[in-house]
Formats: sequence, C-alpha cells, structure tokens
Amino acid sequence: MSATYSFFGAVEKSFDKAAAFTKWEKGILEQIRACNSVYQMRFPVKMDDGTIEVIEAYRVQHSHHKTPCKGGIRFSTEVNQDEVMALAALMTYKCAIVNVPFGGGKGGIKIDPRKHSVYELEKITRRYTSELVKKNFIGPGTDVPAPDYGTGEREMAWIVDTYASLKPGELDAAGCVTGKPITQGGVRGRREATGLGVFYGIREVCNMPDVMSKLGLGTGVEGKRVIVQGLGNVGYHSAKFFQDAGAKIVALAEYEGSIYNYDGLDVDAVFQHRKATKSILNFPGATNCVKNTDALELDCDILIPAALENVINGDNAPRIKAKVIGEAANGPLTPEADEVFAQKGILVIPDMFLNAGGVTVSYFEWLKNLSHVRYGRLEKRFTENQNNAIIAQIEGTTGKKVDQKVKQDILHGPDEVDLVYSGLEETMITAVNEVMDCWRANPSIPDMRTAAYVVAINKVATSYAELGIFP
Ligand code: NAD
Repeated sequence: MSATYSFFGAVEKSFDKAAAFTKWEKGILEQIRACNSVYQMRFPVKMDDGTIEVIEAYRVQHSHHKTPCKGGIRFSTEVNQDEVMALAALMTYKCAIVNVPFGGGKGGIKIDPRKHSVYELEKITRRYTSELVKKNFIGPGTDVPAPDYGTGEREMAWIVDTYASLKPGELDAAGCVTGKPITQGGVRGRREATGLGVFYGIREVCNMPDVMSKLGLGTGVEGKRVIVQGLGNVGYHSAKFFQDAGAKIVALAEYEGSIYNYDGLDVDAVFQHRKATKSILNFPGATNCVKNTDALELDCDILIPAALENVINGDNAPRIKAKVIGEAANGPLTPEADEVFAQKGILVIPDMFLNAGGVTVSYFEWLKNLSHVRYGRLEKRFTENQNNAIIAQIEGTTGKKVDQKVKQDILHGPDEVDLVYSGLEETMITAVNEVMDCWRANPSIPDMRTAAYVVAINKVATSYAELGIFP
C-alpha cells in the first residue's frame, strides 16, 4: 500500500474529515480550504562556473483571513506547487490553533542547497526576495517568511537585507522575515523554538493520566524511550530537550543511515560525530541500521519524525512499534498511516500544532521588530530591584538569611530568552489542552489530528464570519 494522495490532497482529506464535525456552511468551509494566492516564478541565476540556471520557486498565501501571512521558505529538490500549497494550508490551521494572528503562507525554491556554493545560494535567495518584493508577496504587513527545511538564519539575513535595500526608510523592514540572526533583529530562543515546542507539546500529553493509561504508559517524560528522525534544526533540539528532561534517546535517523543504542545515545556527541565524519553511522557504542528508515520501526515509547513528509505511510506504518508519534516535521504521516495508527490505538500528536513553536516565537520576533525594543529591556532591572527589596524585607523580619542559590533564582529579572520560553510554554500547553478538550467533548472524533482541524476550522470560520465578508 502506498500514498494515493498528493500532499495538498492529504491536507484536504483531513480537513473534510474534520469539517463534518463542525456546523459551518459549505461556502465558508470551501473558502477556508482553498489557497488564496499562488505565485509560481522562474528566474535566471549565473552560477560560479558562468552557466545560467533557471530556478523554479514558489510563494503561496493560503489564507488572508488574518494578515500578514506567515510561513517558512524551503530549499529542496522535492519542492513543487502541491507541496508548498499543502504547507501553506497547514500554516493557516497551525496559527489558528496556537492563537497567532497570522494567515498561512509558505515558500519553496527547487534546489539542493548542498550542491550550491554559499555565493550561489546568496544570489538565489536575494533574487527570490526581489521577485517577492516586485509582486508584493513579502513585507511586515503582508507576508513574512521564516526558515524551513534547508534554510536558516543566514538565508533570513540575506532576505531582510535585500528587502530593506529595496524599501529604503521603511521603519518596520526588519519585520519582513523572522528567524533572523540576533544582530539582524532576531529574537533569542527562535533557533530552538520548534524543537522546544515539540518537547512542551509532547510533555503536556505525557502528563495527562487518562491518555497515558489508555496507551499503557506511565505519566511524565522521564525514562521514556524516544526515537528521532532528522538531526537538523527541529530534530536536534527536540532530541536534546527530551534528553535534558530525563528521556532516553534510543535511536536517531539521518538520510545517510540510522543508529541505535538501547542504553541511550548522547545527542550532542552524535551531532559532533556527524559533523566530524559527515555521517551519523559508526557512532561509538551504537549499532548501525541497514536502511535509514529502519530506526523508525524499532521498539520505543515516543517516535518523533523531524525530517520530511510522507516518511511513514501505508507500507511501514504496520511495523511501527511506538505508542506515541509526535509529528515534528510537516506531514510525515500519510492518511493511510493515520488509519493504521487509529486502528492500533497509537496516539498521533499532529504537526499542525506540535511544531508550532517556530511560528509562535516568530510571532514574538515580529512583535519585537515592530516595537523596536528587546524583550525584558524595560522591566528586567526594575523586577530585580523589587525582588531584592522583598528578600531584604523577609530577611529583616525573620532574622534569617535566604539561601544564596535560592536568592539568585528569585532575584533574577527576566531576560529575553526567559520571556520567549515562557510565552512558548504557555502557548503550547494552551493549544494541547484546547485540542484535547475538543476531542474529549466529542468522542466520535476519531483522532487528535481531526480534533486539531476542528479547533482550527472553528477559529478561522469564526474569524471569517465575524468579518462578514460573505455578502
Ligand atoms: P533542517 O534542514 O534543519 O533538518 C532536516 C534534517 O533532516 C537534515 O539534517 C536532513 O539531513 C535530515 N533528513 C533529510 N532526509 C532524511 C531522511 N530521509 N531520513 C532522515 N533524515 C533526513 O530542517 P528543519 O528546519 O529541522 O525542518 C524539518 C521539518 O520540520 C520539516 O518538515 C519542516 O517543514 C518542519 N518544520 C520546521 C520548522 C523550523 O522552525 N525550522 C518549523 C515547523 C516545522
């Protein structure tokens, strides 16, 4: 059995399944589901050897019910219009679930970043940005890209620089893209945000006694056996936060292969090993798997696919042994896999809100850019002075000294990263509980993905209905 839907078709199928559990009329549902604008472009770029390559690229704005649109830019040879549309649609629903006031968008450039020099990548990224500017497909109030598969802070810095140079004097130009380096208007905590959000989201589910007992698992993250696919931005940070919380990372998979060690792998050591040897394989103390996807089928409590879409499908789903699957990547499961897991009672925590940490912190970054002030700058010292006064008062009244370590913790006024982590934790916990409450309130909803879509549809439809744009 293999995937029979396009990626966008799979998103539409999930949408339709959930729409049946809502009260909205057909027209509103059709408007929510459709992609509002699709920009397909081709542009020439001269490569280092003097040849000219015609680059295929996209930007899709799935929904304008709130603006700006928001979503990452992907560099991959797999990029196509269907994929970008699907990812843009997921962004609409994701933003709605985590209460981020943006419409969904996504961009993609069909290249293999590993096959281009840094200079070529810079030329491609800058040219793509200028194409977006020409068609008004980028800007702090219209459409705000971010990193995704194959892109990072470096590319975002090129984008903001190109945008600002084409829009001289635009006060809020830094808000045209998020995921920037700190020096270019980025926010502390953005780099690890998606992985941290994945951790907060799964941890919240693991803390629900009713959910865990149905799966035959104890509550909490500590001691749980975790497998992660993809050691990039999202996968590395997800794995790292689980390890730091006392979970055991028993296997890791990359595109060149996968490794396991049931006593646990040290994520940082594996990362350094891969950096040094250019491969995850042959890590001391670990066993190599024959295929890179073999690790997905090993025994574990939590499986986190954090690489690409459609990696778990009708073919391999029946062999998956995990009890919880946390979709850190976008669309890693096909609808066929969803059906297999629903039948087997495996809990799938859907991408739609689980990997929303990136967009949540992107929202914080955008707010920082519009306010032109670093988080914590105004209140940090004030809070520390207040806390100092309270401790002095307590010590004076009781005649006892507060322990030095405890004192330091209480005194500490919030830095930018503290506020970002706290805002992200609050957002993820709220989102998980909204989705679970929706599911518990209607037990005929078959799975958590459908419950998440129901929550998203209700929010977007309410927003459209309140706008009154359907004459
Ligand atoms: P990345 O480029 O940093 O990392 C992806 C990793 O996956 C790379 O290390 C790559 O080598 C590996 N990989 C590729 N093919 C593989 C395979 N077949 N098996 C195992 N590993 C493979 O990308 P990322 O930003 O971490 O994004 C990963 C996923 O998370 C994507 O689906 C993306 O859409 C999603 N996502 C990313 C963010 C973000 O903030 N970066 C936010 C939300 C969702």
